[in-house]
Amino acid sequence: MRPIQMVDTRSQYHRIKSEVDQAVLDVLESSAFIQGKPVQDLATELGAYLNVSHVIPCANGTDALQIAMMALGLKPGDEVITPSFTYIATTEVIALLQLTPVFVEVDPQTFCMDPESLRKAITPRTKAIVPVHLYGQAAPMEPILQIAQEHGLFVIEDNAQAIGCEYRFSDGRTAKTGTLGHIGCTSFYPSKNLGAFGDGGAIFTNDAALAEQLKMIANHGQRTRYYHEIVGCNSRLDSVQAAILRIKLRHLDDYNQSRRNVASHYDRVFSAHPKITTPYQASYSTHVFHQYTIKLAPGVDRDGLVKFLSDRSIPSMIYYPVPGHRQAMFAAFGTAKVTLPITDALTDCVISLPIHTEMDNDQLQYISDAVMEYLS
Ligand SMILES: *Cc1c(COP(=O)(O)O)cnc(C)c1O
Repeated sequence: MRPIQMVDTRSQYHRIKSEVDQAVLDVLESSAFIQGKPVQDLATELGAYLNVSHVIPCANGTDALQIAMMALGLKPGDEVITPSFTYIATTEVIALLQLTPVFVEVDPQTFCMDPESLRKAITPRTKAIVPVHLYGQAAPMEPILQIAQEHGLFVIEDNAQAIGCEYRFSDGRTAKTGTLGHIGCTSFYPSKNLGAFGDGGAIFTNDAALAEQLKMIANHGQRTRYYHEIVGCNSRLDSVQAAILRIKLRHLDDYNQSRRNVASHYDRVFSAHPKITTPYQASYSTHVFHQYTIKLAPGVDRDGLVKFLSDRSIPSMIYYPVPGHRQAMFAAFGTAKVTLPITDALTDCVISLPIHTEMDNDQLQYISDAVMEYLS
């Protein structure tokens, strides 16, 4: 059996090696490393795939979120509502821009922002909402957008874990996550569903004026070279990464289907087990399984499971061991006093198992047998 990894980027590369190698060599030969043609081509192709008017490539997913928040003209002290149960990048940029992060609960089934908790957190200082499509499951965007509209709030989607996920509104209309709010952000970090061979990110919007701002901010606040209208930053996707991403984008739907196949296998083995809750799949969206994250029943020794698996050369991860409101970096915001019992409970019981596009049945069987053996 091949060694088991959380993500197997090498095997994935080998399946498209000749195409990727040629694309990289073409960039090297052109030597247009920055703002080369592949970057614009990727933006166009990604826009078509997502059915969104504007795609602004940038250096990474964290920058995408930062640039999105900068483009909305928020002022220090403005409140931005976000789940505590997410990767730190979502919330870090809020504090970095001297905005105030307001942490709310997630739904224990979807792991995504709970609309009721969001509604309760709104104050006169609230300016924006950042839902996260965690683990590849879409947040309940229809109620979130409804609440945002009622209160005149911006919605920035953190789509770093859910590119390719499709949302279905109650009227039957469908759209890709990342294109539902005012701005969507994604990451091309190598382990993401659409991963580069280095860092990368992108920002999406259907609003032409916002697109103009986002583009300027990502490029030193300039429209015309050396004429800097606003304070921006330097955040670019390089041509080599764009060339690779163009090839991988053509496989994205297949990649996401492979992830769903892995999830179905795990589901079949685990679903009847009284100590395991398998991932919930909301009826309002597809699931692209960036992670396969189960919940363990109270009393199961999670550290013991991690060690049991590790002793059998099976990696596993806790995403994430410390929720935002308990991070030292936010101490100044008094977030430690926030009570988020669902988030705390999830933090203590989740465990993510290996899932990627290159897993074979032997590996899947071996992993699921080991989990079942530990819990027997
Ligand atoms: C990966 C990730 C990011 C940040 O992306 P980088 O490219 O690593 O900066 C932001 N939010 C979430 C939820 C992520 O998973």
